[in-house]
Amino acid sequence: AASTCSQLNTTTCPYCGVGCGVDVTSISQGESAQLVSVQGTASHPANFGRLCVKGSKLAETNGKEGRLFTPLIGGKTSHWDEAISAVANKFSDVVNKHGPDAVAFYVSGQLLTEDYYVANKLMKGYIGSGNIDTNSRLCMSSAVAAYKRAFGTDTVPCNYEDLEQSELLVLVGSNAAWTHPVLFQRIERAKKLNPNMRLVFIDPRRTASCEAGDLHIPIKPGTDVALFNGLLRYIERNHYLDSAYISAFTEGFDESIAACEAWTVKTVADYCDVDTAQVEQFYQLFANSDSAVSFYSMGVNQSTSGVDKANAIINCHLATGKIGRAGCGPFSITGQPNAMGGREVGGLANMLACHMDIANAEHRSIVQNYWHSPTIVPEAGLKAVDMFDAIEQGKVKAIWVMATNPMVSMPNRHKIKAALAKCEMVVVSDCVANNDTIAMADVVLPATGWSEKNGTVTNSERRISRQRGFLPPTGEARHDWQIICDVAKKMGFKSGFNYSHPREIFDEYCGLTAEKNNGSRDLDLSGLQGLTPAQYDNLAPIQWPVNKANPDGMKRMFTDGRYFTASKKAQFIALHPRTPEQLTSAEFPYVLNSGRVRDQWHTMTRTGTSADLTSHIGHASVSMNQRDAVQLGVEQGDLLALNSSVSAAESQSQSEVILPVKIDNGQRKGEFFAPIHWSEQNHSSANISHLFTDANDPISGQPELKHAAIRATKV
Ligand code: SF4
Repeated sequence: AASTCSQLNTTTCPYCGVGCGVDVTSISQGESAQLVSVQGTASHPANFGRLCVKGSKLAETNGKEGRLFTPLIGGKTSHWDEAISAVANKFSDVVNKHGPDAVAFYVSGQLLTEDYYVANKLMKGYIGSGNIDTNSRLCMSSAVAAYKRAFGTDTVPCNYEDLEQSELLVLVGSNAAWTHPVLFQRIERAKKLNPNMRLVFIDPRRTASCEAGDLHIPIKPGTDVALFNGLLRYIERNHYLDSAYISAFTEGFDESIAACEAWTVKTVADYCDVDTAQVEQFYQLFANSDSAVSFYSMGVNQSTSGVDKANAIINCHLATGKIGRAGCGPFSITGQPNAMGGREVGGLANMLACHMDIANAEHRSIVQNYWHSPTIVPEAGLKAVDMFDAIEQGKVKAIWVMATNPMVSMPNRHKIKAALAKCEMVVVSDCVANNDTIAMADVVLPATGWSEKNGTVTNSERRISRQRGFLPPTGEARHDWQIICDVAKKMGFKSGFNYSHPREIFDEYCGLTAEKNNGSRDLDLSGLQGLTPAQYDNLAPIQWPVNKANPDGMKRMFTDGRYFTASKKAQFIALHPRTPEQLTSAEFPYVLNSGRVRDQWHTMTRTGTSADLTSHIGHASVSMNQRDAVQLGVEQGDLLALNSSVSAAESQSQSEVILPVKIDNGQRKGEFFAPIHWSEQNHSSANISHLFTDANDPISGQPELKHAAIRATKV
């Protein structure tokens, strides 16, 4: 009999942007191997041994059940040569006939940095289009755009320790207790150790997180800019400005404060529909705290004014000098495990690799010369919503969807379905077979999963960690970077994609960050260039930049007050609040908000397989205040049909979103909440993406997934 071997590895959790280290024990016997136990890595600086429920159940969501085993063409089992040829030939054909902008990649924050790097290289340097965008567009692209407006670069200034060292933590649009649980545990512990620490929650909903807070301000959805404009005005009128910081390190304060003139405490309270005393208390806390971190997430970003909201927060930190020092800063927290890594290597349609800009001719030349590539993207490509619009309009004729499920996660599902149905070729590569988008695919490519993949990810605090494969690929699955390189080579790009290991890709990426950098760009990994295989394998978690000046990485950015704008000064942005796109009306009188539940991940393609994870909340529901339930004549568990102007445009059979009622008096009156994860439930649709408009922020392109105007009818 074959002997049994037990192996211990350290890797990174794939279920959120906290990026916890995970120690995994696997056993192998002969050809077969399986993951048997997981525990938090005691030495990992993100989690110090902690895991949340999702992380601790990784062994249960890692089985072979529901995996893709072989390539499929037209729904039938195929083999790799045929599938790679089918994709490469069609993409080449479309490019030859219609130009490079007629093809697109829609990728994912689930990909590793090395996967992302080669996908971006193929599209921007070899095909010659900017049409590569990511589901991170739905997650944090507004935060990226706001950082770029204020700092000149997409630079997260803070680190997780700042959350523990701060006198005041302001959580805006975040239910971190459920969405970033390990970070929230760290916050709770810090508060226990320091009873003087204050926690303020700004969220229309009273969520599980708010229970730990000192103050909860349930603002009307979409009014954040007014709240922070009011804070800036309060700081100025009450002499709490850090004038020395403003004059030495910033520009644009006068225009910015002029835009706040109207926002008195009373005006803000009226506009945000909250108590004046609460607003005053928050302003006093912020003004009087020597240190403060604003921790913000989807509630800020997923909005048609998401960039402005983030800049309104950043303005207040610049005005008080609460940035670049311990316990301070505007801290955007990402949802996905590698949304940050994707940003770094150019996974957004409007960016080049390594935080260089498509619009900058020198940057384009640096990248093309470094890659020795035949072309370089001349202008920004299509952002997610525009990409699917272009497919529907017949402009994009072939799309490759990697490790994501737009049929459930994109707003206005009807349009996504119509677009994919019209597309000449839809390719989906994923590790799981229950991705709803596969139903629309001409070619399906089986990719390796979390426990099989090898590379790096970057978490919300700029910390690069290794994800280490410890099980062999399932069936015929291949690594994403290999699949992309195979297609590139088949398309005729003989050089540029001859990698034999992700370490080689990582090394090339590090080299590009250093190319003609000289401190002019924030992202510098020159200190990680030239790692030996053993050094790459053993790479300890480290925060970029990593270079000669910072060989052990850098905890905190902007400590010297120098930014990456042309003037080296941070920019205040003058802001005026805008309302959400879909406003309530007599026909659609309720607001629908969306978000996650504690134990599920995205569209449940992996976490949905665990009975333990489903036991917390086993089905979708629509949460509402008791007063709304009475008005609608429903009780807990009764079924409601939900419609918006978006879903009403569909045929009846496609548009029905039917959910059971959940009474939750943490909801403001007239405002409902439903989770994003489910697609079908009891033979009717629980997929709320039917209801949301694909209207998006004019700068970031991030869709407004937190605000639909709906009607609700008892079924
Ligand atoms: Fe995984 Fe996030 Fe939970 Fe950490 S907090 S264990 S990264 S899901």
